[in-house]
Amino acid sequence: MRRSRAFIPTTKEAPSEATLPSHQFLIRAGFINQQGAGLYNFMPLGKIVLEKIRAIVKEELDRAGCSEVQLSFVTPIGLWDRSGRSDTMGKEMLRISDRHQNEFVLSPTNEEAIVELVKNRVTSYKDLPLNLYQINTKFRDEARPRYGLLRGREFLMKDGYSFHASTEDMIREFNLMEETYKKIFTRLGLDFRVVAADSGAIGGTGSKEFHVLADSGEDTIVICDACDYGANIETIFESEEEIDALNEMSYEELQIKSIDEKCSCGGNLSFKKGIEVGHIFQLGDKYSSALEANFNDENGKPRPFEMATFGIGVSRLVASVIEQNHDENGCIWTKATAPYMVNIMISNIKDEAQTALGEELYEKLQTSHVEVMLDDRKDRFGFKMKDAELIGFPYTIIIGKELENGLVQIFERKTKENISVKTEDIYSKIMELI
Ligand code: ATP
Ligand code: MG
Repeated sequence: MRRSRAFIPTTKEAPSEATLPSHQFLIRAGFINQQGAGLYNFMPLGKIVLEKIRAIVKEELDRAGCSEVQLSFVTPIGLWDRSGRSDTMGKEMLRISDRHQNEFVLSPTNEEAIVELVKNRVTSYKDLPLNLYQINTKFRDEARPRYGLLRGREFLMKDGYSFHASTEDMIREFNLMEETYKKIFTRLGLDFRVVAADSGAIGGTGSKEFHVLADSGEDTIVICDACDYGANIETIFESEEEIDALNEMSYEELQIKSIDEKCSCGGNLSFKKGIEVGHIFQLGDKYSSALEANFNDENGKPRPFEMATFGIGVSRLVASVIEQNHDENGCIWTKATAPYMVNIMISNIKDEAQTALGEELYEKLQTSHVEVMLDDRKDRFGFKMKDAELIGFPYTIIIGKELENGLVQIFERKTKENISVKTEDIYSKIMELI
């Protein structure tokens, strides 16, 4: 992409309510913009990152044997009446009426709809197990939408649902999804922990959350320094006041606060702040029983499906990458999530030699399928460099005055290091780096 043709409206100022780095930088660097409370537009850079995350999620799920579907975003209220959730979901579930006064819901999650889809279509134990997922818009009328993409009202979620003939098989799939989620978050380049969790309004018997470790996280988790034990404090402390008090504490404050239950492995436990990016639940037959969704077992006897459900906050992940990877100048994308891997900076576009080399490299890298931006704008070098740091391209090739001596620079965003490279070596060097 040529920067002169791109739509990347960067700004110096962030809105006053943007208190977290991801919220400030994603807006300032022109990735997203706010349409209303908890409602965001994805501009070209934001859309590229969102699609990259979506593609990794899809690739790993498909590899694990799941099938993608797409359910209608608007669901009839009757479905929610039958499961009883039209009463229990509360005000988070947004209801709308059509011109005939029929009531509908903007899907906050889709257990009912998926059970309805599978019911009477999967009738025998021989057709099980089955794992269906979608990556689709959700709406939750959050009491306090805030922190940009971290807590929106409209957001993109991957929601998956599996169907089984036995509890053992459901637990096998639950464990497989735990491993699959670990692969996804590792590929995204995130530092995360899996923790025991509370099942909340979704219900069920056991659940685990995936937390990206970040000081700005809204959740407090306990982790062990010696083994992979981790738990959301909601599962450890009984009193709401105690949980709220811990969640209100900053990181620094939590570090001082000691925790007296050594881990069973003998390791030390400590508090950390986390952003919940994934949640997997063992559901059992809660929804299949309520909606009378049965299969015939080996003896021909009808039984409700054993189910599990699996969520990932796809749009929340865009912001989570930045909460974990940024500095005072802007975004630092991981290799898997960077909207463009390389930015070619022509310092002075009036200089013919600089422009010629920039164009040549741009062609060559595109031919090699490298995602590359060519900054061919007339603006000052200092301004363009600030812009590149704000956006967070992993590498910027600076074609400037040193070209007279046969040299260009590679600026690495993460380390802020500049290395000089001979012009004839630049292509191979950048290919080696990425
Ligand atoms: P939270 O505790 O953060 O409100 P939740 O436990 O209600 O989330 P789940 O029902 O587990 O959310 O949904 C699955 C995933 O969807 C979550 O793990 C999270 O990553 C994402 N998610 C939930 N609510 C939001 C939101 N308001 N904005 C963005 N992502 C969200
Ligand atoms: Mg959750």
